Order: sequence, then C-alpha cells, then structure tokens
Amino acid sequence: MNERYVLSADWPAPKNIHAFVTTRNGGISEGAYGTFNLANHVGDAPLAVAGNRDLLREALPARIFFQWMDQVHGSDVKTIASAGTVITADGLVTQEPAIACCVLTADCLPILLTNQSGTEIAAVHGGWRGLRAGILHSVIDSMRSKPDEIMAWLGPAIGPCHYQVGLEIREAFLKESAEDEAESVSRCFSQSDDPEKLQFDLYALARFRLGRLGVSSLYGGSFCTHCDEKKFYSFRRDGVTGRMASIIFMAEAE
Ligand SMILES: [Zn+2]
Repeated sequence: MNERYVLSADWPAPKNIHAFVTTRNGGISEGAYGTFNLANHVGDAPLAVAGNRDLLREALPARIFFQWMDQVHGSDVKTIASAGTVITADGLVTQEPAIACCVLTADCLPILLTNQSGTEIAAVHGGWRGLRAGILHSVIDSMRSKPDEIMAWLGPAIGPCHYQVGLEIREAFLKESAEDEAESVSRCFSQSDDPEKLQFDLYALARFRLGRLGVSSLYGGSFCTHCDEKKFYSFRRDGVTGRMASIIFMAEAE
C-alpha cells in the first residue's frame, strides 16, 4: 500500500492529526474482495486480511497502534486510553496520541472528528440504524471538547443517487425527531423512481444531526461508494465485498 491508494480527509485539521480512508486498491485480497479488504467478518481469506493490515501498518509511523471495532449498528461509543483487542462499539474517542481509531465500511457513513487544537479525536460508524439510535449524540457527548471546537469529516458512503430505502425508514427517523426537526429530517429523503421507495441522503442526515449538536465545521460527504467501483467497495452494489477503513490518529508530540 502507498499513499496513492488512500484518500486523505480534506479538512483544515491541525497538523498533528492524520485522517484518511483506504480505497479498495493496493492490497492482496482476491476476487470480490479485491484488493485491499481490511475486514475479517466478510468471508475473505484471513491471511489476505492479515496481509492487508500489515501493509497498512507498514505505511504508517512505527508507533501507531490500531483499535478496531466490532460494529453493531448501535450508539455505543467507547473512550480509550490504549489500543487493544477488538471492541464492540460503533464509535471511539481518545485523547491519547498514537492510537489509530478505525472504522470499517462499505456504504455506511464513516465520520472522523477532531477538535481545533488537535488533542482529541473520534471515529464513528454511521449507518442508518446507528444514526437513528443516536450515535452522533453519543460521540459528541463522549468527547471532552465543546461542540464548537469540533470539526468532522464525512468519509465515502453510499450517496442519495443510489441509496433507495422503504418509506418506513423515513418514518423511523421522524419518530425519533423533535417536532421542529421534522421538516429538515424529511428533506434528507427525496422521491424515488419507485413510488414505494425514497432516496436517502445519509450525508444530509448526518450534517443535520451534527449541526443540531452544535458542530458546524463539517467537511467531506461528496462521494458515492456505489457509483465508484474502481475506488470503493459497496455492499449494496456487490453483496459479497470487502470493507474500506477510515482511520484517524494524533501524531506523538515531537
Ligand atoms: Zn451513487
């Protein structure tokens, strides 16, 4: 793996903050997983995944420790002071340098966060279930930084062009929303070719929720994993497929 196989977060984060997402290129997985699958739970050969994680490790500074999650589409966020075995959660927060917080996705929305002074970071797995369950509220609540000190980068997710959902998904979100939020939440869903369906804009929903939580420095959110099969895995497009990793870490002080 080298730098041309990852996409750096395009945001004005402090210099010590490193944030990027892997693409499907630069690794050793084969077939539907080709080539840079970083997930163990999707049926890829364990040796290929281990090899890809080695490539990732080698591409980063030596003293970076990876924290992976067993993501369950919930709203649990864990604050960690060291990296270790896989944690069941959908969000990670740390104030420690050298810990790489990692989120695995292939259509769900990865969200990376930091504060303006570069002393705290977070990573979130934002699928519709997690967003509905309040994962963004949990992560902003878990961070020590005030919302107006936080910036967020929305990584590659399935775009509204391809994310067709049933009407019940909009109902589910409206049910969880305050009265004065209904109009904005509804606007995240647009008409679909199929009258029984809607096109869902995950990015818009995440931006709205973060805004309500007081986080207004928002970046990214311009990709569609389904549209770009050269760069991204997409579960909706391919079914059997790999996962990209969105990763954020703070460099050690010099
Ligand atoms: Zn698309």
